[in-house]
Amino acid sequence: SQPVLAVVGRPNVGKSTLVNRILGRREAVVQDTPGVTRDRIAYDALWNGRRFTIVDTGGWEPGASGLQGAIAAQAELAMSTSDAVLLVVDASVGATTTDEAVAKVLRRSKRPVILAANKVDDQRLMAEVASLWSLGLGEPQPVSALHGRSSGDLLDKIVEAL
Ligand code: GDP
Ligand code: MG
Repeated sequence: SQPVLAVVGRPNVGKSTLVNRILGRREAVVQDTPGVTRDRIAYDALWNGRRFTIVDTGGWEPGASGLQGAIAAQAELAMSTSDAVLLVVDASVGATTTDEAVAKVLRRSKRPVILAANKVDDQRLMAEVASLWSLGLGEPQPVSALHGRSSGDLLDKIVEAL
């Protein structure tokens, strides 16, 4: 069976838009309303002759254990059911305390973690991208899921990690 990439991140950072960009078609549901909970949906992706499964995750809702608990649970689930994890952060917002909490969980993973700095539609956000080194997940890969900017570079990193 093919390797699995789980896509995690806060609501509205552009996970589904990025999944659509990677698939080259519109399948993942893009929502302008943050926090809409949806099921995990798996799609077949292909890059440079390498097939993999990409799992888009829905938004986080505070559960019985609170928001931080729900976040940690989603990150743990992503790690346990995938070969690599793609953490998507909104570079136009920067690292939030929620992003830091997720990064903390993911740093414990034995699986590779790729950090995507999304919404870098132009060069102006490169300083914010560099600040995401603070998440302790290595080099942030700038990308614009909306315009496709640098999505090839991100896909190269993904198939390298899988
Ligand atoms: P998700 O909740 O993380 O799956 O986020 P969505 O993919 O549903 O996107 C949330 C919003 O961010 C939508 O309005 C998207 O059009 C917007 N968005 C996604 N990627 C980008 C990007 O690269 N640049 C900009 N400017 N907006 C984006
Ligand atoms: Mg989504």
